[in-house]
Amino acid sequence: MGMAKKWMMEQDERGYSFIEGNICSDCFTDETIKNFIKENATSAKCDYCGKKSRKKMAAKFDDVMGVIVKGIALDWTDPDSGGITYEGREGGYATQPNRMSPAGVSMFYGSFDEKTAFLETYSPSLAKEDEVINIGKFITKKFLRVLDIGSLLPTPSVFDIENQHLIKPLRFLHQFADDIAKPIVRNGAEHQEYAPTQVVTEYFRNNYRYLEGKIDGIIYKSSRKGGKTACVLFCDEGGACNPEDVGNDTAIMELSRVSYKKASDYE
Ligand SMILES: [Zn+2]
Repeated sequence: MGMAKKWMMEQDERGYSFIEGNICSDCFTDETIKNFIKENATSAKCDYCGKKSRKKMAAKFDDVMGVIVKGIALDWTDPDSGGITYEGREGGYATQPNRMSPAGVSMFYGSFDEKTAFLETYSPSLAKEDEVINIGKFITKKFLRVLDIGSLLPTPSVFDIENQHLIKPLRFLHQFADDIAKPIVRNGAEHQEYAPTQVVTEYFRNNYRYLEGKIDGIIYKSSRKGGKTACVLFCDEGGACNPEDVGNDTAIMELSRVSYKKASDYE
């Protein structure tokens, strides 16, 4: 049994979703995680960045997740312990691998206004001339519970004794929110840049519980100039349906309108 699964079963009787595959040390910048992977390598291939080697250099994603989940939990709950610090950089476009989802894990990326959706997905350098942009408007079909890191409270002062327990969790969430807001350079190192935010997002998707259950997504501030609030919802292609798809109970949102625009319409 993997470390993460064991740990989660100890912590939470409601279960834990497996994440399959192996990940290499080049996919992380944190020294502790890098060393853990080197010492626990079981595969010569990284399923995450696709790198192959003659010797074993990738460890089970589930085991690596165990180290990270433990670190996050310590960092969140025990003010005296060091825990791991979250040091990732993030940003990016809505193509795979994505800012919050590794290749193969699907999520819904959206925003609350058209312009932000455009800014989040459109890349002028990759655009073709006279490219038509399809904009879909979705209506949620049920009450969704989301983590809003787009409007976090400020981290309390160390002298604010009453709120001292909030310093570490808020510091962590602010770092997570900042990483999502940083623009990324497409230079082939995206995998390493994305890994920390993706892992933290996987944690919120699969492990985190708020009161009686899981959360449905994360709201964050757009990293684009002029962009407002954006969101990621934890669902696959079955999570969105057309109005004529009656009886689709798994869908959490319904497409209500499609419009066609050009990039110049948003200038
Ligand atoms: Zn890798």
